[in-house]
Amino acid sequence: MQVQPRQFISFDGSTRLKGFESKPENYRYLKDLSDAPKNVDAQQTALISRGAGLSYTAASFGEDVCSIDHAQFDRILSFDKENKCIEVEAGISLGKLYDFLIEHGLFLATQPGHPRITVGGCVAPDIHGKNQFMDGTCINQVESLKLFHPSHGIIELSPEQNPELFRLTCGGYGLTGNIISCKLKLKSIPSDMANVTLRPIACIEDLPKMLRESADKADFIFSWHDFNIRGKDFGKGFIQEGRFIANASIGEKTSIRKKAAEQSLNAETRGSLPFPIFNSISVAAMNALYGAKGNSGSSFQLSLFDSIFPIQNVKELYFKFFGAAGFHEYQAIIPESNFGQYIEGVRHALQKRNLPITLASAKLFAGKQDLLRFTGDGICFAMNFPRGQEADELMKELDRLLVNCKGAPNIIKDSRLSKEIVAATYPEYEHFRTLLHQFDPKRIYRSELSERLGL
Ligand SMILES: Cc1cc2nc3c(=O)[nH]c(=O)nc-3n(C[C@H](O)[C@H](O)[C@H](O)COP(=O)(O)OP(=O)(O)OC[C@H]3O[C@@H](n4cnc5c(N)ncnc54)[C@H](O)[C@@H]3O)c2cc1C
Repeated sequence: MQVQPRQFISFDGSTRLKGFESKPENYRYLKDLSDAPKNVDAQQTALISRGAGLSYTAASFGEDVCSIDHAQFDRILSFDKENKCIEVEAGISLGKLYDFLIEHGLFLATQPGHPRITVGGCVAPDIHGKNQFMDGTCINQVESLKLFHPSHGIIELSPEQNPELFRLTCGGYGLTGNIISCKLKLKSIPSDMANVTLRPIACIEDLPKMLRESADKADFIFSWHDFNIRGKDFGKGFIQEGRFIANASIGEKTSIRKKAAEQSLNAETRGSLPFPIFNSISVAAMNALYGAKGNSGSSFQLSLFDSIFPIQNVKELYFKFFGAAGFHEYQAIIPESNFGQYIEGVRHALQKRNLPITLASAKLFAGKQDLLRFTGDGICFAMNFPRGQEADELMKELDRLLVNCKGAPNIIKDSRLSKEIVAATYPEYEHFRTLLHQFDPKRIYRSELSERLGL
């Protein structure tokens, strides 16, 4: 297995580390890995899998760790249209998969917001989409998967076969080994067009109730808020309700693969601007423009691709506008009963600071928290803002607020989360650690994320 030294950077711009990279082109690398660690100390052979490297955190690399790039493993292995099931290699991108499935009137129900993200990168952190309240997190669409670990070989995992290891791997941040392939459950779609309705929100305290009302009639929902306004209008915005349209004629026939391939978004190019474009003035103007579209309560049609992976070109610029210094995302699930307390705390924390909030957005969540999976009942609230000293202080204040509100932060989105905060907000933190150490006592798979969180 060929290994090259490489400097890695996290997508949020926070973490630069020297490690190693291997880009295997065939499965001989599994034999190389099986042979190597038996003879050497685990410290020297720390490994971690890498998908598109689009995680905000350093989840797919670490200091002196060898990242194994799965880009070459992007084939469709089998497809059963009748039973709505597809088996793919873990390095396949969501864009490529979408392109194939849409021709058959099928899609993956749970997807994050960028077509370059890989299936392995979805399963390992157990990502969510805009329909979590209905379809849960990624684990729900995994029928089974093949996992490789040098000490155990290739193991088949599913809710029935090795169920504990299945749960540890779907939401295990790549720490149980390399996911080689996944069998995924698919959903039928009536067409590849959606109807989107915008419902204005005058008062952010009404958000949980309004999200619930929307959930009864929509296939996917999220909200947008302006957190840069002070006073009674703080947090006003709109809910975006999406609904698939039955029998709609398929919209403009974009070549999804081409569209996805053209996207340059990656951790290196994201920070290409030396200074940020976002500041209090530019963000206030951007929000005023964006927020105005929600006031009308308008409805429009959108292709499914653009609903799942919204405004691609704008998004590329959005992330670039944070400049080299990068950005924070604070995303957390807050129990509905404590949402008012959380928002009051956020309002108070922001009032003291002159920090532009470039995004404030919520989704409705349902489910039971388990191990280190980002799931549970409540409101999933996310905020983006530029990095800097004020932002660091805000993040610490939000950590304290979250613990008081009995919420949980999103581990894959926050590069500076500490072991203490994760242990305080995830009741099964110790259990996850114990299971991981039982499965892999040498702890061969590591990343900056796992080291920071004491896993
Ligand atoms: C524009 C954008 C929008 C996003 N929207 C959402 C969203 O709506 N919801 C959400 O939940 N997240 C969202 N995210 C976060 C994103 O879904 C995750 O960070 C995802 O893990 C990135 O996938 P990747 O292919 O880049 O994986 P990487 O960043 O390379 O890796 C992520 C993790 O997966 C592990 N991994 C990757 N491949 C394998 C494998 N084959 N075997 C074992 N482990 C593996 C890595 O070790 C690492 O721990 C978004 C990110 C971006 C940039």
